Amino acid sequence: MMKLLWLPALLLATACADIPPASIDGTDGHSCAGPSDADLDSSPTVLKRSSFACARSRDTGFDRGTPFAIEVVHVDGKPVEVDTANAYWNMQRAAAADGIDLRVISGFRTQSEQSYLYGCYTNCNCNNCNLAAYPGYSNHQSGQALDLNSQGHGVRWWLRTYAAGFGFYETVPGEDWHWEYLGDGPVGGICGEGGGAVSLQLTDRGSYENGFWIKSTGGDATHHVRYRVGRHDLGASEHRAGGFPVYYVFSDLGWRDITAEAYDKNNRKLGERTVRVKVTARARPRAQMQFAGAFHDQGHYTNNFWVKVDADPTVVRVRYYAGEWQVGSSVDKAGGFAARMRFNELGWRTIEAVGYDAQGRIVRQIGATVKLTP
Ligand SMILES: [Zn+2]
Repeated sequence: MMKLLWLPALLLATACADIPPASIDGTDGHSCAGPSDADLDSSPTVLKRSSFACARSRDTGFDRGTPFAIEVVHVDGKPVEVDTANAYWNMQRAAAADGIDLRVISGFRTQSEQSYLYGCYTNCNCNNCNLAAYPGYSNHQSGQALDLNSQGHGVRWWLRTYAAGFGFYETVPGEDWHWEYLGDGPVGGICGEGGGAVSLQLTDRGSYENGFWIKSTGGDATHHVRYRVGRHDLGASEHRAGGFPVYYVFSDLGWRDITAEAYDKNNRKLGERTVRVKVTARARPRAQMQFAGAFHDQGHYTNNFWVKVDADPTVVRVRYYAGEWQVGSSVDKAGGFAARMRFNELGWRTIEAVGYDAQGRIVRQIGATVKLTP
């Protein structure tokens, strides 16, 4: 269902909104260098709000060169990724209550738009020869970046004071109009949950005793969730009802940025969120466990195959799950806790191995997302 909110119905004629966006530095590409907002200041007594059009379309976002599925709505007539749009909705309402009119000048950008800008930059024959990021690497292509009307009355001050509370951060030095949604804003928003929405059930800046469950909620299209710290994989789960749970024991204590990545059933990335948590000491022994033999994450396997793990002596039993279904169990440590996998449904599946100690406590959980073929 499409919702429209025109409060009041004023679309701003921003200086450069409808021409191919220009950019002014190497990390980004902008609809205009220093968005001007003269129209806002011309009628300061009218409380205006951004317009939202929540009809969704699918597009392809890019995160550091890697394509992923993205859902786009429109804010102030500009394409904006749906989670970012919802977060912005919360922020602009708060700003409006403070008498500040926020506007989106530029949002999501496609690969072809970025390619155009990059061509202008390298050939110096359009877009004022402005610097532009290599296609696939602009942070406007990830869907998280918005260029806002930072020159509007009070806007820059308001954003620097309050935007972080809504999950928006000024990420590029010297570009006070460029704000990125990094998650953890208030929930809700006018455009509903994004298909790729994922939020971690860990408190940002919270402390957790080592050996804890990492869980998240995903949008409708989410088939499995993968967790990582930087490039270090923590595991994956397709157990939606259980909150896509992974139990992880860290080998070192301290602060960690844990990222949850949501994927659809075709293993296409939908979105991600990161929270920073502090891992504190715990008396429980650490367990090391990893998949063994030929079985590995992202592998392709003919249905009916064996999975094994290597585990330290703490682990005495391993149970295997696919989603909420247990698909194997073994106490045969010498045999690598081997279990035979045979599925009725082929395609991408996440197989989880859960390690138990002698007291029956879970001491480690790992997951691998693999493709099952006939
Ligand atoms: Zn920007």
